[in-house]
Amino acid sequence: MEKRFELAMAEINHCNKCGFCLPACPTYRLTGNELDSPRGRIAMVEGVLNDEIAAGDGLEASLTYCLGCRACETACPSGVQYHRILEAGKAVLDGTRPRHRGLSFVPRMLLRLTKSPKRLGRLARWGKRAQHLPMPSALKSLMPMLAYHPEMIPPAPRVSPAQGKASFFQGCVQEALYHDANRAAVELLAAVGYEVKTPAMQTCCGALAWHAGRSEEARALARRNIEAFEGTGAVPVVNTAGGCGAMLSEYGELFASDPDWSERADRFSRRVKDWTALIEGRPLRFVGTGERVTLQNSCHLLNVEGGGDVPAKLAAAVEGDTFVPIPGQDRCCGSAGIYNIQHPDWASRILVEKMTEVQERFPDRVLVVNPGCQLEMTQGVQQRELPAEVEHLARYLYRAFLRGQRESQGFHQVE
Ligand code: SF4
Ligand code: SF4
Repeated sequence: MEKRFELAMAEINHCNKCGFCLPACPTYRLTGNELDSPRGRIAMVEGVLNDEIAAGDGLEASLTYCLGCRACETACPSGVQYHRILEAGKAVLDGTRPRHRGLSFVPRMLLRLTKSPKRLGRLARWGKRAQHLPMPSALKSLMPMLAYHPEMIPPAPRVSPAQGKASFFQGCVQEALYHDANRAAVELLAAVGYEVKTPAMQTCCGALAWHAGRSEEARALARRNIEAFEGTGAVPVVNTAGGCGAMLSEYGELFASDPDWSERADRFSRRVKDWTALIEGRPLRFVGTGERVTLQNSCHLLNVEGGGDVPAKLAAAVEGDTFVPIPGQDRCCGSAGIYNIQHPDWASRILVEKMTEVQERFPDRVLVVNPGCQLEMTQGVQQRELPAEVEHLARYLYRAFLRGQRESQGFHQVE
């Protein structure tokens, strides 16, 4: 048996079928169908790996709609690493169908563009100019980017002595669409004393390709990133996109059975940190403007990287604003890589529950920590015509930090 199938069987054998993971699973919450639950999916993969059922007998229907959000892993008392089972199931499916089947033109095009963030940025700018032209319906979930207005992010004052160095991972979609959030995070890191460098040779983290079942493409991108960051020394690799951070932090696992790369990949992954981890507890004073603010957390930051409670702590630390958490702030919004492009119907049904929770809290601002969530939540806000702005936590905190600085110098600014 192949190594990845052995790993999956080990996880399957850990699962005692208790079902504690079911309430945490967004697709099970949606349908109540066992086959749309982690336990049902595990049973399907187990049946196929044990040759008890054929791959065609419902495996694809069961796995296709899994978001890969991994909420089932944090909910599981037995510590079952569900993603290993999911990857094995996807590998079985890949072996039973021609390459590219299941990926339509738009997702394929997007995956190609993510290898060149500059081209992705050009597409975003072109999209803004051509928004009156007819677009393929699969591009609908990208349309919220047209309403986004990047802010100028001037240098922030330094408030701490030097802490050391950090390397910055931009992320392809994050840098192409929301580069001001990246700048804001870098300025906040600099404010607390980090000297931040951005290696030029970096590329997409590979998460989108990985979620689409293209493991070799994902590994090729990972190798480029590992090489790009090796030159920066053993300093933290920070990023502002929860989905990218999760992928980067698992390069070690991605190359576990590749003796040429496993050690390098593991060393790289141990350096990966979400930017919020370096900001938390630092002497930054954040001052708001009396807004009600809520947060859609990144499920990958929470379920894969750990430390996913930090964004909410930082959002709640802004003086003068009121943080109003939604009950499902840690539950996937339906974006999940390119899930909302591949399965727009399921994604929008997941978003409906989320937006009902948001609407009930009357926020002025919905904060996010991942570009996919930003697109998805903007779509939700637009559909409900809510008077709320969706923005990355870094950009929100950057403005609040500048206000705090002005106040501590005796200036009170009306906004
Ligand atoms: S994955 Fe974990 S929580 Fe879910 S059924 Fe198996 S043991 Fe129980
Ligand atoms: S990864 Fe998410 S969608 Fe998939 S089974 Fe686990 S909780 Fe459900």
